[in-house]
Amino acid sequence: MVKNRYKIPVSFSLPRRIQRLSELSFNMWWVWNQDAQQLFRLIDKPLWDKLSHNPIAFLHQVDRALLNRTINDLYFLDRYDAVMKKFDQYLEAKNTWFTETYPQLEKEQIAYFSFEFGLHESLPVYAGGLGILAGDHLKTSSDLGLPLVGVGFIYKNGYFMQSISEDGWQETRNFYLNYSEVPIIPLTDEQGKPLAISIDLPGRSVFARIWQVNIGRNFLYLMDSDLDENSPNDRQLTSRLYSNDLDVRISQEILLGMGGVRVLRILGYKPTVWHMNEGHSAFLALERILEMIDRGKTFEEATEIVKKNNVFTTHTPVPAGNDQFPIWLIDKYFSQIWPKLNLSRDQFVDLGKQAQTWGETFVMPVLALKLSEHMNSVSELHGDVSRKMWNWLWPDRGENEVPITHITNGIHTGTWIARQTNLLFQKYLAPDWMDRADEPEIWENIERIPDFELWAVRKHLKRKLTVYCNEVARRKWQEGGFHPVQVVASGVLMEPYSLTIGFARRFATYKRANLILRDYERLLKLVTNERMPVQIIFSGKAHPADEPGKLIIQEIYRAVKDARMGGRLIFLEDYDMNVARLLVQGVDVWLNTPRRPNEASGTSGMKAALNGVLNFSVLDGWWREGYNGKNGWPIGDDTEYQDTNQQDEIDSRDLYETLENEIVPLYYQSRSADNLPNEWIARVKETIRSNAPKFSTRRMVKEYMNNLYAGAAENNVDK
Ligand SMILES: *Cc1c(COP(=O)(O)O)cnc(C)c1O
Repeated sequence: MVKNRYKIPVSFSLPRRIQRLSELSFNMWWVWNQDAQQLFRLIDKPLWDKLSHNPIAFLHQVDRALLNRTINDLYFLDRYDAVMKKFDQYLEAKNTWFTETYPQLEKEQIAYFSFEFGLHESLPVYAGGLGILAGDHLKTSSDLGLPLVGVGFIYKNGYFMQSISEDGWQETRNFYLNYSEVPIIPLTDEQGKPLAISIDLPGRSVFARIWQVNIGRNFLYLMDSDLDENSPNDRQLTSRLYSNDLDVRISQEILLGMGGVRVLRILGYKPTVWHMNEGHSAFLALERILEMIDRGKTFEEATEIVKKNNVFTTHTPVPAGNDQFPIWLIDKYFSQIWPKLNLSRDQFVDLGKQAQTWGETFVMPVLALKLSEHMNSVSELHGDVSRKMWNWLWPDRGENEVPITHITNGIHTGTWIARQTNLLFQKYLAPDWMDRADEPEIWENIERIPDFELWAVRKHLKRKLTVYCNEVARRKWQEGGFHPVQVVASGVLMEPYSLTIGFARRFATYKRANLILRDYERLLKLVTNERMPVQIIFSGKAHPADEPGKLIIQEIYRAVKDARMGGRLIFLEDYDMNVARLLVQGVDVWLNTPRRPNEASGTSGMKAALNGVLNFSVLDGWWREGYNGKNGWPIGDDTEYQDTNQQDEIDSRDLYETLENEIVPLYYQSRSADNLPNEWIARVKETIRSNAPKFSTRRMVKEYMNNLYAGAAENNVDK
């Protein structure tokens, strides 16, 4: 049926000796294998950086003479052969954690649905943490040998590109994905036509073609409605993430859930685990029920069967984050479907209905919770919050009996570790430390790293970040239309010797990016202290429709521009995985100030901890589990507040006090004779030792397998 699953769709004219670079560029395995990235860097580092580390664009554009030179370079060829050998061994490995732990489940398949996937900056089909988590989940599933397949969308306009105007207003620019420069393999049918599925929307069918992305041993399938068969409007259906247009949004979700099941069917998959990463894909449960009804089951029987295989992860306690639709929209899109399910309108609407203060809506997480037997939240505290929040769905149970467990998020070590940190760990932890990143024992070896070596790497990474800020500013200045104040705001006055704090995330209001501005004069004093200056780098996007979020960016930008701050506050535009990597590796302190308990988990702080950056954060989400008294600092405590203004006031005071009395002095004053901040370094070691194993996705995906997937897979409905 599918003709060309493994055929790379472009031909690069590479010297024969290194022609497998093309294969490498089409498997995202290179993203978490630094030796593989090093190959491209060795050929032409400036080009590699200029093309946002995109190997396909790189192979298209690289100078032939440089390629030809490599085949006489014995050092390069040695590295090349080693990478290819490692790549082959990885792809062919028979013994993985999964095959050894679950030999009886060898034939099962796990489907993982997500609205976004953050795998690398060169494939920008993500907006934030949810997508990054999905990407890290896929990579780790491959590492552990899980037979997992991903389903999502390719967005040809991505999320959006951000620039900040001179007066601090977020401006959005359209982004256009160049299909010939992303690692997507078009699937075609026997006639060579794009392999496509279709779904029914009011008055028409919409078609979507399927692209394949190779993620190590596994595949991700991305749907794309940009096909001749569709109307101009429908061709745009999958062009953008998180549209505000409700018709677009519900159509996308029908395509993701119902269409996604059809994608897997057309490709011959029979998953026994169906994981919904957030509620956007919950319509997949309806499609599976329809399949069962076609086989002669009643709605009730079908639901009982289907539920057993469904896994649902909820990611937010913030109401605006819980995807919902007005009931009239459900009437518009589902009146053809409820008869097929043998349901009345009211019975159908009940599947997702939640009464709000302003009326009733159809809530996707409600649908997912009702149609899944396996449910989880993403941190311990978020578990408590979620059980309380959804208790009304289980009215005869107490809060603690609500069947939503928790699996705390993690990060994919290979994706987020700095190269220099990795080399240090290889030397002192174990050469294969990364394959054992979730084993606490190997991290005890952190003590073996000499302070001066660890500090040299930390300093190197901060310099790298400084150079990056300078280069971005230089490029924009050269391009023109960039006001001098914007040059300063992008960090040209930044230097690598001061204590540097990073704050980067989506600008949702509950994240309180402006908490640190609450007492402006106090901040000014902190930042411009001559003996102990502090630099703060902000980065992040507000959703284009989020006016309060954009106002917070403007408030920050005003402070960034304020000459009195001396150029020590910085705003880096266009936060993405590249900027995230530079920041979580390069700053000294990672700041997070969500209004508790709204941060379900957060993952950027985990990336920081892995690289020896100290967290300074509200005891919300993951940090409530990560903080142990000596590996960073808390903001506030476990107090619950009714009055958010009071909460903000108390948290901000605590923030300034800890900065003034603990963090800044510890960085500057506890220097030994060799000018090493030994006490600081002790904390760096403690944060790596205590957090790295616990918050790795190896730990996380194993928990998904052991606690949720294994149970779901035992109910093989096709047997
Ligand atoms: C890790 C990451 C996030 C999520 O970080 P949070 O701490 O959860 O806000 C968002 N965006 C990018 C680009 C990331 O790398």
